[in-house]
Amino acid sequence: MPKKEKNEVQELKEKLFSQPKHAVQRMSDAERKDCDKFCEAYKDFMNTAKTEREINAFVIDALSQQGYQEFAPGMKLNAGDKIYLNNRGKSVIMATIGKADIREGVRLCAAHIDSPRLDMKQHPLYENQEIGYFKTHYYGGIKKYQWTTVPLSLHGVIIKKNGEKVNIRIGEEESDPVFYITDLLPHLADEQMRRTAPQIIKGEELNIVIGSMPLKADKGNELVKLALMKLLNEKYGITEDDFLSAELEAVPAYKAKDVGFDRSLIGAYGHDDKVCSYPAFRASLDVTAPEHTSVVILTDKEETGSDGNTGLKSSYLRYFLEDLAECFGANGRAVMRASKCLSADVNAGFDPTFPEVLEKNNCAYLNHGVCVTKFTGARGKSGTSDASAEFVGEVRKILDDGDVIWQTGELGRVDLGGGGTVAAYIANLDIDTIDIGVPVLSMHAPYELVAKTDVWAAYRAFKVFLEA
Ligand code: MN
Ligand code: MN
Repeated sequence: MPKKEKNEVQELKEKLFSQPKHAVQRMSDAERKDCDKFCEAYKDFMNTAKTEREINAFVIDALSQQGYQEFAPGMKLNAGDKIYLNNRGKSVIMATIGKADIREGVRLCAAHIDSPRLDMKQHPLYENQEIGYFKTHYYGGIKKYQWTTVPLSLHGVIIKKNGEKVNIRIGEEESDPVFYITDLLPHLADEQMRRTAPQIIKGEELNIVIGSMPLKADKGNELVKLALMKLLNEKYGITEDDFLSAELEAVPAYKAKDVGFDRSLIGAYGHDDKVCSYPAFRASLDVTAPEHTSVVILTDKEETGSDGNTGLKSSYLRYFLEDLAECFGANGRAVMRASKCLSADVNAGFDPTFPEVLEKNNCAYLNHGVCVTKFTGARGKSGTSDASAEFVGEVRKILDDGDVIWQTGELGRVDLGGGGTVAAYIANLDIDTIDIGVPVLSMHAPYELVAKTDVWAAYRAFKVFLEA
């Protein structure tokens, strides 16, 4: 081919074809620095707040320090005012009042703050052959075998009979003990290895080792259990019945760390969905004088289907928007109809070791920015929230105008599986909603992987959208 013709082909391709680019080709040195700084703060957050309760407390503490006021129906609000609503210590809504009339709608960004984990049962404590255990019931979709032989920390609350609340957080400090679930040695695992993968470790085998030292006594049984209960009684003032009114969650005790020689990735427990909720929270803090009222929702219970009064299938978001509308003498329905939402949730990143589960032209790649997903759902888009082309066009313009690095992709190839997010429940409120999120590798594993540039891109996307 003559040289000139080749150039014409190239020119035409550049003009007409999509030109996906790695984030590093698009970011200035200054932006790379901002990105790294943001990710350092993200890692600190990951090590500080691991569960929905801890994130709720962390966020509300930060909001109070930044001058956010607790929302009360009927309160007088002006442009620039910042408010929050604490839903039962597990979900939080934060908002910055915009300059425009509330009837022009609000800009929403929603993400969840619960992550897959192991919950203690209500009768958790037992002893078996002189080892003390907690019985668990797993929360969210996990590969159970991944949760054995990793250091675990324990988080949550115990409500005593007198109503007193005991906060538990053990296994995160350097000097803390951790907890542990055993697996079989390979030498004796012949039969176990013949089980199918979901059964390699069964639900009732996820038993957490919590001790092994019996009470020193000549007689008596359950002396390990007794010694453990004595210890817990001395430390927390609880008796065994207090576990009945407790929420104790075991999560990996790992710290968030840079991954790779080039430190371009972050490994951590619970990127799903702190990697969307933290950038959304930070975007809310940094939005000071938005045109439209900006609202960020950090919700609970996404991993179990969003049911319950702290999940987004409940009415707490709708009630908040109605109450907010009433503060301005507006109709909640009208506000919702005019509102727009980014439903922020992680997506499956392309993993070159397992290429077959994704379709290469329509999936998210690490370091290619935050991923916009027009529709979710399984099989024939069952259970989907499918954003209209008009709304996709609007979001596309906002992101491009804001110089946000973004890509599009769907969760898996057709008919393989799929999944939903909270998008459908917000869209069902008559709000234009689209999915967006950070690509993750090893999603729902005890230690998940994301790329730093994508975390940064998520923050930038939420900020420009809330300010649009
Ligand atoms: Mn998830
Ligand atoms: Mn998620």
